[in-house]
Amino acid sequence: MEKVFLFDVDGTLINTGGAGSRALVRAFRARYAVENALKGLILDGKTDPWIIREVLQLNLGLSPGPEQVRQVMESYLAFLEGEVQSSPNFRIMPGIELLLAELAAREDALVGLATGNIEQGARIKLERAGIYPYFRLGGYGSDSEERPELVKIAIRKAERLLGRCLGREEVYIIGDTPLDILSGKAAQVSTVAVATGRYSLDELRPYLPDYLFSSLADYPAFLAEVYARQA
Ligand SMILES: [Mg+2]
Repeated sequence: MEKVFLFDVDGTLINTGGAGSRALVRAFRARYAVENALKGLILDGKTDPWIIREVLQLNLGLSPGPEQVRQVMESYLAFLEGEVQSSPNFRIMPGIELLLAELAAREDALVGLATGNIEQGARIKLERAGIYPYFRLGGYGSDSEERPELVKIAIRKAERLLGRCLGREEVYIIGDTPLDILSGKAAQVSTVAVATGRYSLDELRPYLPDYLFSSLADYPAFLAEVYARQA
């Protein structure tokens, strides 16, 4: 039986070296003539529309409707491509390329995304890393502003593709923040936390992920354990 692996993007698959934040700052500068729009905000694990709404509310004192969020998003995407392409510190996390190649070679693995990035944003980032074609489906920030909801959307897409309901041992949410873990738990699937983002092992452990790794560099051990478990 297939197992489904749903990956977060930033801090899990890649680190854009700040390109995402820089594109967003430029978008707010273009639309609202403000500098340092993201000042004081923690972005990790949040969805793009959630971040934009938070900036508009907390840092600009506005009560944004969907149209204002959409406009910032549009500017963000326009800046993102260039920022990602030119980012000197862009990197892929340890083990990721080999893990994805291994999963692609297996007939019993389906690989997708569960990310707060809007779909086109995720595509721009993963194309630079050369790993975009590995992902056959996704739940995105453009599907829902709420992370638990976009995780469920990704799982539903996987179920549709496979033509059956998926149980706890068949779906793995892989991410670098407490919000990834909590969203996976809300969807009643397995959770894999990696300390390749802002949060350390000790900070992730209290959220009780089913698996916890400093990185996926030792992905063969992870896969051996996952595939030893029955659905
Ligand atoms: Mg992340």
